[in-house]
Amino acid sequence: MFKFFQNKKITEQLYERNLELAVKNKTLSLLENLYKTSVLTLTPEEMAREITDIIRKDLNLEFAGVLIFKKEDDSLIPLYFSKSERMVNAFQKLGFILKDITIINISKHKFFKQAVYNQKYNVTNNIEEVWEELISQEHLQEIKIQSHIKTILLTPLINGKEVMAVLLLGLNRDYQMLNNFEKASIQSFTNVIALLIDKAYLYKNLQDSYEVTKKAYAIERKAKEELEELDKVKNQFLTTTQHDLRTPLTAIAGYSELLINGVFGKQTKKTIDVIKKIQEVTQNMKNKANSFLDTAQFKLGKGVISLKSGVEIEPILNEIVDELKFKAESKKVYLNFEKPAGDFKINADREKLKSALFNVIDNSVKYTVNGGVTIEIKNQKSKIKNNEESKNVLIAVKDTGIGISPDQINNLLETQFERSEQAKKVADGKGVGLYLAGQIIKLHQGKIWAESEGEEKGSTFYIELPVG
Ligand code: ADP
Repeated sequence: MFKFFQNKKITEQLYERNLELAVKNKTLSLLENLYKTSVLTLTPEEMAREITDIIRKDLNLEFAGVLIFKKEDDSLIPLYFSKSERMVNAFQKLGFILKDITIINISKHKFFKQAVYNQKYNVTNNIEEVWEELISQEHLQEIKIQSHIKTILLTPLINGKEVMAVLLLGLNRDYQMLNNFEKASIQSFTNVIALLIDKAYLYKNLQDSYEVTKKAYAIERKAKEELEELDKVKNQFLTTTQHDLRTPLTAIAGYSELLINGVFGKQTKKTIDVIKKIQEVTQNMKNKANSFLDTAQFKLGKGVISLKSGVEIEPILNEIVDELKFKAESKKVYLNFEKPAGDFKINADREKLKSALFNVIDNSVKYTVNGGVTIEIKNQKSKIKNNEESKNVLIAVKDTGIGISPDQINNLLETQFERSEQAKKVADGKGVGLYLAGQIIKLHQGKIWAESEGEEKGSTFYIELPVG
């Protein structure tokens, strides 16, 4: 008798073992199938389809679905549902598409809350608990009967610490009928599923950002092409304007010169004075036209500077003084260039540097009503480049004019169209000359700044350029 019981116990134990082995075997083959999908590059939807198909078939389920948790909306959105034939028929008959049924208000949902917010699996024999309020009771009963669903099992899919999705399984057996190994087996593959879904999203994000980069690149290329086109048009405009503005002025200057030189007969002193006035106005207009065109070119970022070494400053200043002498004399202000002995050579674009210096000296004459303007020049050692001491030429243009208020002095060289109230009273101007001079001096690796004790106290403009 004892032997009989002993044999029975052994048989039972063997049966248990066999069952355990069978379940383990099944779990292993399921895991193997899941791993096979991990080498594929799939979108999240495709991945969910592969996974749910494998699980449903291997575990003989009525359905298996993955729903993604949208934290910001507190909702679960179906990614994919794999369904048995019975289930497909039941749903088709009623005209429902499971993939379209989003589950909302998860934090208040009896069934889903447990998995999403407590990270614990949940089981129910009542299909209504899952889709209540979304599908009518009557329809749910019909689905239950037709699809043979007895139990619905819900497992969270956790990515790190957060629930990223849930796995919903429809079983045609009661949960109690599952043995411990089957229950454990279901738990063991959910981690793998979470990993696979995560991988698919990672791939999708990479793909998306690649697409975005590609799009951004295409937009940038198009913008560049358009800018280049615009640049061409602007350049054409500049060349034409340059020609249209300068040509008549050059002709006027040329004819005036011929008149003064008596080519068309001897002129009276009065006529010569008038012609000189015409010459001065013409020169002024020429300078203005050049300033505007140069400003436009600087704004376009054109390299309008071409530096040459050994450019002498003295002759440039002499020319400017000659050109402005008449203007100064007619205002009864003095214009002195105090030439010292010695050499003052720098790296320069002679024409551009001359126009910058001209603007500064012209301003001093323009904004001085009493007294006059003195130009000084000297060699000195100072730091203007990279904070290293170097040999430089310093030009100082001192005037006894309207002066500059402290709040205006710093903006003067950086901002266009800045004009002081006092300046507006004293003379016409456009407020571009100094800005342009500043840009030109910068391109010469030089420095330009102004000093003044204040309004009505005169000003001194300093221009420092490296010797070259
Ligand atoms: P514009 O002289 O055509 O107005 P600028 O750019 O050459 O334009 O000068 C800008 C402003 O800087 C002037 O309007 C004036 O307010 C001020 N400014 C320039 N030079 C002097 C100077 N020597 N004395 C006083 N103010 C000056």
